[in-house]
Amino acid sequence: MLVAFIGTHIPLIVLIVDAAFSAKTSPKTIASTLLITLLATLSGTAVTLYALHHLLAPIVLTSKVLRRYLQFKQLTPLPTNFEDEVGTLMADTNRTLQELNEIIQHLTDYDSLTGLPKRKLFETHIQQAISNIGDRQLALIVLDIDGLKNINSTLGRTIGDLLLRKVAQRMITHITSGDILARFGGDEFAILRVNLTRTSDSPVVLSNRLLESLSEPFYLNRQTIHCAAKIGITIYPFDGTSVDRLLQNADTAIHQAKQQNLNTYQFYSPAINAQLKRILAIKENLRYALSRKELSIYYQPRIEIATGNLVAVEALLRWRSPELGVVSPAEFIPIAEETNLITSIGEWVLHNACLQNKQWQQEGIAPMRMSVNLSACQFKQANLIEMVDRILRDTDLDVAYLELEITESLLVEDIEKAIATLQKLQQKGISIALDDFGTGYSSLSYLQKLPINTLKIDRSFVTNIASNPSDAAISKAIVSLARSLELNITAEGVETQEQLAYVQNQGCDEVQGYYFSRPLSSDRLKDFSANYRLNSQNN
Ligand code: C2E
Ligand code: MG
Ligand code: MG
Repeated sequence: MLVAFIGTHIPLIVLIVDAAFSAKTSPKTIASTLLITLLATLSGTAVTLYALHHLLAPIVLTSKVLRRYLQFKQLTPLPTNFEDEVGTLMADTNRTLQELNEIIQHLTDYDSLTGLPKRKLFETHIQQAISNIGDRQLALIVLDIDGLKNINSTLGRTIGDLLLRKVAQRMITHITSGDILARFGGDEFAILRVNLTRTSDSPVVLSNRLLESLSEPFYLNRQTIHCAAKIGITIYPFDGTSVDRLLQNADTAIHQAKQQNLNTYQFYSPAINAQLKRILAIKENLRYALSRKELSIYYQPRIEIATGNLVAVEALLRWRSPELGVVSPAEFIPIAEETNLITSIGEWVLHNACLQNKQWQQEGIAPMRMSVNLSACQFKQANLIEMVDRILRDTDLDVAYLELEITESLLVEDIEKAIATLQKLQQKGISIALDDFGTGYSSLSYLQKLPINTLKIDRSFVTNIASNPSDAAISKAIVSLARSLELNITAEGVETQEQLAYVQNQGCDEVQGYYFSRPLSSDRLKDFSANYRLNSQNN
């Protein structure tokens, strides 16, 4: 600024100096003239600077306040103690900034779609509630809408947004004063309930009302939309004493509710949490089990009662995970089904079991059936028949030595389609066994329509056959039914001589169980086959 000022005064200085020289004045006079000029220049500059500083002060102050606002999200009022119109201007700016701050705060704290508080503000409310709650309880209810993604992708985001708004409106009608309803974003809502004194305040009552209300159809843009929801509930202080813990556990509870696949609510429980963690770990590790060669197949002998011969083996999957150790198929198969990993795993089992059977035959072991479990989702695959064909071709196994085990569960959905698939498999010469018979939704009415060769009586009946008259009666009924339908009958889980005698008496054709052998590795099955024949010949 000083430079600028001197710059503007240069012509004046030059004029003075020029005049002095041209008048041939003495050097002393010239010096004093210059000094006076310089002093005049400096005082002029000072006056200008002072004026500028005074003029710029409001701008500098406003800029400082805005910078602090950006940095600390706190608005401090501007000073208004200026004379003349600058003071009024500052007061005006103060008001505008205050209004802007309120708009920004609202956008930060509230969801623009539903107008409900967002997660951050909701968390502040929980924190405040915890600080004031004393020794009372509070409930946190987190609700997740099912299938919003689907609605967005099939009907468009506008309908999805409309649905969320309507959901929020319905939820509002069920909360009471003191409750805080929030939207966490996406398809998640939450309610904080501080008053839990009366029975009617129970989060169970509220959850049931919400689920019922949301299961009523929504009419949006002339479309009828059905939606379901899942609810997870945590109670302060039992399920957590911090905001984070309460929310995290509500998430766990909702996860558990999701497992149940219905319009439902679920309270948090540490046992559930542990179980969920295990399921997640299995899910994660199972994805790589096949490629990391952690899976293997064991084979359990099936003995024909009439001859005592080893006539079949059942292929049973085994998984040794480096992280989880040995995991039972009863635990990981349902997870593999849920994640659809069973498709690739099941194909691997079928291929390797057929290959192994062919190899045994080539090694001179008397030919026997290889029985392979087929899960419902494999069965529903469009290319099942081609897959089985390809595997039989690739492994060169004679179709007579393959049996597929299915369960009643796959007959629930579309029984006619299931029958058609079974017929195609059977026409190729593949045997079909109905596994775990008696445990499913069953049973008798459709049994005669089913193209199956074998009924496997579930282990649970065999276990108590000698001690529990009703189990004995059921197994007797199953056997006589199977007899009349000319089905082959296998008793599963025979562990004792007594059970063997019993199922033999009833007329079962084959037995499988620890009494003869546990499931064995392929090498040990080979030994079993050799020794078993030797023993039975000796007997
Ligand atoms: P499952 O098909 O009913 O197989 C029989 C189960 O009973 C096997 O359990 C076998 O080890 C067990 N078992 C056999 N005899 C006895 C006995 O005398 N006493 C007792 N206590 N148990 C006996 P495992 O191997 O744990 O398999 C459990 C289930 O996992 C199988 O039941 C089957 O449903 C499923 N699974 C196993 N491997 C596969 C597979 O490759 N694919 C599919 N989809 N499921 C499989
Ligand atoms: Mg089986
Ligand atoms: Mg079974």
